[in-house]
Amino acid sequence: MTARADRLAELLAERELDALVVSDLVNVRYLTGYTGSNGVAIVGRDLRVFITDFRYVEQAERQVQGFELRQGRLDLLGDAAKLLGGRVGFEDQHLTVRQHERLSDSAPGGVELVASGGLVERLRAVKDEDELRRIREAAEIADDVYEHIVSRGLVGRSEREVAVDLEHQMRLRGAEGPSFDSIVASGPHGALPHAEPRPEPIARGTLVTIDIGCRVDGYCSDCTRTFATGEIPDEMRAVYDLVRSAQEEALAAVRAGAECKAVDAVARGRIEAAGHGERFGHGLGHGVGLEVHEGPRLAASAEGRLEAGNVVTVEPGVYLPGEFGVRIEDLVVVTEDGPEILSRFPKSLIAVGE
Ligand code: ZN
Ligand code: ZN
Repeated sequence: MTARADRLAELLAERELDALVVSDLVNVRYLTGYTGSNGVAIVGRDLRVFITDFRYVEQAERQVQGFELRQGRLDLLGDAAKLLGGRVGFEDQHLTVRQHERLSDSAPGGVELVASGGLVERLRAVKDEDELRRIREAAEIADDVYEHIVSRGLVGRSEREVAVDLEHQMRLRGAEGPSFDSIVASGPHGALPHAEPRPEPIARGTLVTIDIGCRVDGYCSDCTRTFATGEIPDEMRAVYDLVRSAQEEALAAVRAGAECKAVDAVARGRIEAAGHGERFGHGLGHGVGLEVHEGPRLAASAEGRLEAGNVVTVEPGVYLPGEFGVRIEDLVVVTEDGPEILSRFPKSLIAVGE
């Protein structure tokens, strides 16, 4: 934890900031270890202060490392502001207009507030070994849950029942819970990338897309597999094979130094060449860590290059409205030599019956 605040202090020096007020709770957790619901951290060159209210003082004493602890009132930004001096950054993408007002009203004269969002997020994009260990574990649990689904069957159960079952299985296997609302989408419903599970039973002879992730010590996993429920029409199989090859080709392009948009282009080019370019409406992937969607992004519009230690998804999909959809998603760690693939569940088309 201390190393993280030190790296942040280096970034602040580059931006000529004397301090950063960190108010986003995910960023606060990343820097301090605190998991409560009210806390603010201030980081400067030699400044490490964490403020929380009376409800969380005991918890903070247990969790927070490397920061001086202070108790504030319920509204912490006013208390934080009084400690500031010089050029001070704040997280503009997380602060409300009212919170910004409170910060500027309570700050001593001469304090210059500078919109500086994204600094902690930049650090978070590159994972350390501690973080990777938790993400690997979360990915393993998701793999086990897919095994469970295959043995338990899909046909005749409702999408909702399957979703409830698999979230229960995650918890039994040691996850804190799902990292997002599980997607179980069969038949034409599978054409909606963010489909909500319905009470309807899953039919035989179609495709079912199951997108799940779980959380271990705050860290997320994210994985999608598409299953067949018995014999399926040739068109479904052809789209499945297309998405699978696009996914595997894009995976092979993942390595430190690769341009984020170039990796997206590998999968997109393959799907476009097959005439389904219009049916792949989302980016290829996203970073995963304390949040299930974080940096870096793999998309046609994404700037920047992958770095060793990034954890990203590779998840092309083809969605044919009113008919069916296919998505295949792996979670990978970016290394100098290529991807370390954390999602181990097979990607061959598996038929799951009753
Ligand atoms: Zn997913
Ligand atoms: Zn995803």
